[in-house]
Amino acid sequence: MSNPSRGVERDVIQRPSAGKAPFYLPQKDEVEIFRAAWSRRLPVMLKGPTGCGKTRFLEHMAHTLRQPLVTVACHEDLTSSDLVGRFLLQGDETVWQDGPLTRSVKEGAICYLDEIVEARTDTTVVIHPLTDHRRQLPLDKKSQYIDAHPDFMLVISYNPGYQTALKDLKPSTKQRFVGINFDYPDEELERKIVAGESGCQKPDVVEKLVAAGRRARALKDHGLEEATSTRALCYAADLMNAGLSAVSAARAAMVYPLTDDPALVEALEEIIEAHF
Ligand code: ADP
Repeated sequence: MSNPSRGVERDVIQRPSAGKAPFYLPQKDEVEIFRAAWSRRLPVMLKGPTGCGKTRFLEHMAHTLRQPLVTVACHEDLTSSDLVGRFLLQGDETVWQDGPLTRSVKEGAICYLDEIVEARTDTTVVIHPLTDHRRQLPLDKKSQYIDAHPDFMLVISYNPGYQTALKDLKPSTKQRFVGINFDYPDEELERKIVAGESGCQKPDVVEKLVAAGRRARALKDHGLEEATSTRALCYAADLMNAGLSAVSAARAAMVYPLTDDPALVEALEEIIEAHF
């Protein structure tokens, strides 16, 4: 009988490879905090705005610690069954298929629930017993509890800017995690990140790009839902490397994906034109 979980597993598990760790420049003491939490297998919450390096940080840490990483991008339809698993009909048989959380718990991977607050609230019920001394995963549909592998670790990300009164993690859930705060890096570090990530060899271009990004970030308080991220600056530098003019690259990476509002588009374009 074919194993229905095989294909899915290949998609979600990043196994440590022999090569270099994914490029990551630390902002503060996040590496030390994560290492300490890992040594005690404490669950971790990565807090910060989108595109500031949370996922890259975790990929870097998983590689450095030689641990497999299972990433689940949470969305509003994601239920506890999507995480834990479900019975599937195969021909005349019903077979149980482990979800990504169960596979991580069994094999001792780091399980990353990206933007957990987006998922249905029933998902927090299954993660609670994994985050305390029990380290157990309840499989309600099989009336079982699974003890977590000693190398299992739970990591969630949380964007404080996104939450509303209706959609937020309960304090009782949050306080089960060790919190690591992320933000957009300071100017000097952001230049190093953009240069390192894009391979852009022109320090003056990187300097202008980062300066423009920081000015654009200030528009967050004037109607922009998302601020210009470090990711957007890396994309812009990459597009320049691919041959686009600085203004076109910056527009494509830092303006159009961010807003449809004509006044904000104009304000962002003015910032870019003032720098290039
Ligand atoms: P988040 O998970 O916070 O939304 P990502 O980790 O996906 O953000 O970061 C977006 C991109 O920004 C990364 O793919 C990488 O190119 C770049 N980046 C951001 N911060 C760093 C950093 N400290 N070191 C290296 N690259 C970074």
